[in-house]
Amino acid sequence: MTNRPTKNSNLELNLSEEEKPAESFKVTLQKPSKIKEFLDSYVIGQDYAKKTISVAVYNHYKRIINQSYESGVELDKSNILLIGPTGTGKTLIAQTLARFLSVPFAIADATTFTEAGYVGEDVENILVRLLQVSNYNVSAAEKGIVYIDEIDKVGRKSASTSITRDVSGEGVQQALLKIIEGTISNVPPKGGRKHPEQSLISIDTSNILFICGGSFSGLEDIIQKRTGKGELGFNSIKNETIKHGSNVADIYNIFKSVRQRDLVEFGIIPELIGRLPVVSTMSNLSKSEMLKILTKPKNALINQYKKLFQMEDVELIFETPALKKIVELAQKRNSGARSLRAVLEESLMNLMYEVPDMSKPEKIIISEDFLSGVLGSSSPKETQKKSA
Ligand code: ADP
Repeated sequence: MTNRPTKNSNLELNLSEEEKPAESFKVTLQKPSKIKEFLDSYVIGQDYAKKTISVAVYNHYKRIINQSYESGVELDKSNILLIGPTGTGKTLIAQTLARFLSVPFAIADATTFTEAGYVGEDVENILVRLLQVSNYNVSAAEKGIVYIDEIDKVGRKSASTSITRDVSGEGVQQALLKIIEGTISNVPPKGGRKHPEQSLISIDTSNILFICGGSFSGLEDIIQKRTGKGELGFNSIKNETIKHGSNVADIYNIFKSVRQRDLVEFGIIPELIGRLPVVSTMSNLSKSEMLKILTKPKNALINQYKKLFQMEDVELIFETPALKKIVELAQKRNSGARSLRAVLEESLMNLMYEVPDMSKPEKIIISEDFLSGVLGSSSPKETQKKSA
């Protein structure tokens, strides 16, 4: 197939809230401890990952700022690979970093990419996004951060070469490799496919920081096999985890001993791994971390729902056992903190439907009983607004 325009051509890329352009883009060097401190106010737990990333980001921008400095020593880019279960904060860390540094930030999903010439998005569209959030300020885009999610999904099906061409896997990895290691990429300003008549913008990717994330499900078995700890032992951990929802820390501990060769066996090409020298692992979130996520971060979920109800003149109150129940229900769904929002949304959906029609209650108290019954019929305690 050739570079024939597809129906995706000239597609305007929709920017999500967090990708909206920052007021100004100016890189100032921040110490790792300051970066970590900022991450702490948004990202609960994940101390090891936050520390590693703070150092990597510090080195990255130190490298950019001191580029004119002739020393004969060339510093390599410190792109980051984040390995960890879904909903544990990988994207959140990348987003928070970009906010702190006020550099342009773009998120891309590796599963949407195909090799140039095939139907689907070209890998270079990542750069178009970055350019758009930079208001087409090329020099700002060239110092931005790109988060590539689901990098594990473009792994080759197996480490052995396949006879048929692997469109979705290795070709995409090769294309990503070029951009990640640093190249001058010519991109169509509005995204989509390149046309011969279209003017292109050149972007130098050598100072863009790439953070790749993925859950790498199955990698734990590869690591276990290499380290010689019987699969049986690990499987029994996994079964225990399913039964009791505990022992999740064990998988994290296995991930922590990941080596490059494990990733190669998983299906990531060695050249790409070589360009992601900082590898960090994210742990599953404990009950107490999940509880904190509900209430502590600057834009904590509970506060968001309280605000929604406040706009209706209603004070929404969550009893502590109810918060614990939300965590318990979310943990059963196995998608980390992502399930917290889903559980809250389902629990409060009827209320959010009914409250605008109610003769306004002053307070709505969410109790554990209400949550248990919400999929049934129990209703929350409410205090009628006293008419003045
Ligand atoms: P993933 O690891 O799959 O990239 P995300 O970072 O997208 O997960 O997390 C999904 C949502 O869950 C975030 O927007 C945030 O609200 C919440 N979340 C996940 N992990 C954390 C964490 N460690 N601290 C605070 N919030 C978190």
